[in-house]
Amino acid sequence: MLSGERVHAGRGGMSMRVLIGRRLLLGSGVTGAFLLPSWFEAALARSRPPAPPKPALPRPRSLPLVMLDPGHGGKDPGAIGVSGTYEKHISLAAAEELRRLLEASGRYRVDMTRTRDQFVSLGDRVDRAQARGAGLFVSMHADAVNHRDVRGASVYTLSPTASDAQTAALAERENSADRFAGPAFRNTSPEVAQILASLVRQETRRGSARLARDLVGEFDIDVPMLENPSRHAGFVVLKAADIPSVLVEMGFMSNPRDEAALGRSEHRTKIALAMKRAVDAYFAASYQLTRLAPAAWG
Ligand code: ZN
Repeated sequence: MLSGERVHAGRGGMSMRVLIGRRLLLGSGVTGAFLLPSWFEAALARSRPPAPPKPALPRPRSLPLVMLDPGHGGKDPGAIGVSGTYEKHISLAAAEELRRLLEASGRYRVDMTRTRDQFVSLGDRVDRAQARGAGLFVSMHADAVNHRDVRGASVYTLSPTASDAQTAALAERENSADRFAGPAFRNTSPEVAQILASLVRQETRRGSARLARDLVGEFDIDVPMLENPSRHAGFVVLKAADIPSVLVEMGFMSNPRDEAALGRSEHRTKIALAMKRAVDAYFAASYQLTRLAPAAWG
C-alpha cells in the first residue's frame, strides 16, 4: 500500500536523481520509508491504473438575491399625498437607497422590479422575483388610508384573511393596482388569491413572519410606527409560494407628517438602514430559508 509522498527532490547537475519517498504500510499500522530511484517510480506509475477524474470543485455559492419591489409606477401613481407627493416616487427613491446599502455590504445581490417610473403589473413583479431566484421579496410602499391621523411604518405578510379592517382595505387598494394593466390582468379574483394563499408553504410563511418581526424590531429603534405594526392580508404581490415576502408601508401619504418625512432623503435613509439591518438579521439567523434557485411556480 503505497501512499506516494514526494519527500525530496535533488538539486544540481547532470546526474541529478530525483528520489521519491514511499511509505509502506507494514502489517497493522507499522510504516516504513524507502527511497526509490526515479526509473522505479516511473515504472510504478505505468503499472498503476489511471487515476479517476477529479470531481468537479463545487461552484462557489452565489450571494443571496434580494428583490426590492418599489410600489406602483408609470400610469399608477399609488397614493397621492395631502400636499401632492406621489407614492410611486417615494417608493422608488427608498428602494434605490436600500439597494445601495445592501450592495455596499457585499453580502447580497439586489434586483428591483422597476428602476424607473414605469408601470409593472403585480404578477410581473412576482414573476421577476421567481425567474431571478430571489431569496427575499420586499415590496415598498407609502399608501393612504381614510384616516388622516393614521401614521407610521407597518409591515405586512400574506394571509387569506386580513388581520383587521384597515389592512383589508389596504390590501384591496394595493391589489387594485392591476386595474391599470388592462383586461389581461384582471383575472386575480379574491377566490384565486385565497387559493394561492393556501398554497404558501409553511416554511415560506415562517420566513416571511420572521422577516416581518425583524423589520418591526428594527423600525422600533428610530422610525415612527403604526400601532400593531405587524399585520397581514391577501396582498397579491406577496403570493410567491417559495419566496419569503413582506410588504412594508414606510408611512402613510394620507398623514401630513409622514408625507413630509418621506419626502426627505435623511428619513428615507433611516428607513432603509433599518430595513437593511432586518435583512442582515434574517439571513444571519437562518441561511437555509433563502432560495438560491426556487422551483418554477405557476
Ligand atoms: Zn402602495
